[in-house]
Amino acid sequence: MAYLQQALFVIVLGIAVYLIARRVLLIKKTIQLGKADDRTDQPGIRLKTMLRIAFGQKKMFDRPIVGALHFLVYAGFILINIEVLEIIIDGIFGTHRVLSGPLGSFYPVVINFFEVLALGVIAACVVFLVRRNILKINRLHPAGSKEMNGWPAMDANIILVFEIALMMAFLKMNAADTILQAREVGHFAEINTGTFWISQWLIPILDNFSSELLVITERGAWWFHIVGILAFALYVTYSKHLHIALAFPNTYFADLKPRGQMTNMPAVTKEVRIMMELDQPSENEEEAGRFGAKDIEDLSWKNLMDAYSCTECGRCTSQCPANITGKLLSPRKIMMSTRDRLEDIQKGWLKNGYDHKDEKSLNGDYITEEELLACTSCNACVEACPVLINPLDIILQLRRYNVMEESKAPQSWNMMFQNLETNMAPWKFSPDDRMKWASES
Ligand code: SF4
Ligand code: SF4
Repeated sequence: MAYLQQALFVIVLGIAVYLIARRVLLIKKTIQLGKADDRTDQPGIRLKTMLRIAFGQKKMFDRPIVGALHFLVYAGFILINIEVLEIIIDGIFGTHRVLSGPLGSFYPVVINFFEVLALGVIAACVVFLVRRNILKINRLHPAGSKEMNGWPAMDANIILVFEIALMMAFLKMNAADTILQAREVGHFAEINTGTFWISQWLIPILDNFSSELLVITERGAWWFHIVGILAFALYVTYSKHLHIALAFPNTYFADLKPRGQMTNMPAVTKEVRIMMELDQPSENEEEAGRFGAKDIEDLSWKNLMDAYSCTECGRCTSQCPANITGKLLSPRKIMMSTRDRLEDIQKGWLKNGYDHKDEKSLNGDYITEEELLACTSCNACVEACPVLINPLDIILQLRRYNVMEESKAPQSWNMMFQNLETNMAPWKFSPDDRMKWASES
């Protein structure tokens, strides 16, 4: 029976590792669709930014209570899962609480610490569920933000319930184990951990169970905990919770330019140089480059990683003046649409092979002209983002494409462009009249 359990465990672990690795490689391949963008300069500053923003969650603490609860879930979940190491060793080799040997009397201290964290994670998850579903915070609930309709709202709830269930299984496993140790049942009698601080509260509920039923309860909780964690790791790759991992590289490779400094377009520079006869025109039109971005391939790899790192928290949208004044634009939705486009490309690959191309494009099919035109380029969304995502960069590139390649600019803009061309100023007055105000005075 023990060998059967070990074999089953190795099979489950192998399948989970295979599925997670396949998914991670697919996401990597999708991000690599983006254009090159060298972000390896100033490694010291980048490292500091990552430690401050991703590891220390600095921006989350702009709202201290939510920040503290988020930190508790993040730290608690990561630390408790160190215990997964023990579960994996036990699962493969058929041992029981293998770390209790090398850690000796320190072992119960570690497990007690994990139990306190587990309780904290459960409490924080309950608070988050209440905020989302009972208090219906506008930026988190479909009633206040229409892009949260359906899957995005459900995704957040699934993860919170999942985390509570995993923590409960951990506590239940410890409680059943404590009783089995006291009753000196089988190999449970070989270890004496004493009662644990939190799971002891479950003992009165389980104490009436027969020893056989307790063994089933302990094993059931053990299997639920490890299979749940593996399933969680796989699920995260399909969910907004991918930020658990991607927040780190995303903040490391964040833009170090001063906020508001716009990037020149190399394609325009090239065009001007050709006009000034400093460069020769390129024979290959593709090589000449496109103005702005029509689809994923025109954005940089960092824009695409931003889309996968978005936590869908809506802090950007809640600060966006266009959104606040009732315009269609939501910077969160810009990031969600970019990710949707990437996911659809992936689905096409899986169905028809990596050469597959569809007729759609990010600009137009996923993000509309109306959304793009509503942006004031104020940078409030960039400032608000807790993981240093830059929705404005994507908006500008898509809008540049609409204006420069498709001539899709509002009439008032076209007049301004024409004035710039003919009068070298946005106004319709001739440059010769520019100083008239001085002579008339
Ligand atoms: S830069 Fe654009 S999208 Fe971002 S907050 Fe300002 S108006 Fe909204
Ligand atoms: S872009 Fe940033 S602020 Fe906006 S929803 Fe995503 S993580 Fe939150």
